[in-house]
Amino acid sequence: MGRSVLVTGGNRGIGLAIARELADAGHSVAVTHRGSGAPEGLFGVKADVTDAEQVDAAFQQIEQHQGPVEVLVSNAGITDDTLLMRMSEDQFSRVVDANLTGAYRVAKRASRGMLRGRWGRFVFISSVVGLSGGAGQVNYAASKAGLVGLARSLTRELGSRNITANVVAPGFIVTDMTDELTDEQRSSALERIPAGRYGEAGDVARAVRFLASDDASYVNGAVLPVDGGLGMGH
Ligand code: NDP
Repeated sequence: MGRSVLVTGGNRGIGLAIARELADAGHSVAVTHRGSGAPEGLFGVKADVTDAEQVDAAFQQIEQHQGPVEVLVSNAGITDDTLLMRMSEDQFSRVVDANLTGAYRVAKRASRGMLRGRWGRFVFISSVVGLSGGAGQVNYAASKAGLVGLARSLTRELGSRNITANVVAPGFIVTDMTDELTDEQRSSALERIPAGRYGEAGDVARAVRFLASDDASYVNGAVLPVDGGLGMGH
């Protein structure tokens, strides 16, 4: 059955792969962008997840276009890496605002329609770093760990209404985000990945496709690593 889906940050990278995978599965898929426009074949809404008014306006457009959001994939995220000693409060807050408070904003707005429809799927894109930590990533890791508590609390609040909230924790996935890493960081990561390869956006997208499906109706409050074994299941 085709569902109404929103993927935040679905204009590129992992989000775009998720959006395409869900569109291929027969769903109506909307994506947010911040000015790049919508990728071909997907319904685009301009919204920055750090702004609750833009989020609300985006949901209204989606509701008119394809009905209330039934599957929310909260994927938009940023990094701003540096060691704690050098990290300004603004650097910390900016990353948490986009990655964690942004997820709260979209989840809250989506929950209304899901409750009314008595069906829903929340999928939050976290990171292996949220569970294992990462030097130079105090802000990013804190925001990604926060998504686990957020999703599990949602599970407790809404689990009896056919609504699930799960977390996907990708490892090293080749995108613009990882292009920013140095060759040394990249090869050191590869040495630690039992699968012996970096991940592709499609690896994450296929996991999200499962969690968004009716087949995953009894999977709730889970953290699903998609990391080639990098985090050993954590
Ligand atoms: P990219 O940097 O390639 O893409 C980030 C996406 O997030 C873009 O679509 C961007 O939009 C959007 N975005 C960022 N900030 C905002 C905002 N304030 N409001 C709306 N959209 C925003 O990253 P990836 O595709 O690699 O990452 C996607 C998610 O996966 C992120 O949450 C990331 O933390 C997570 N992840 C990635 C890993 C990797 O190895 N690549 C590993 C683990 C987790 P725009 O185009 O407008 O900038």
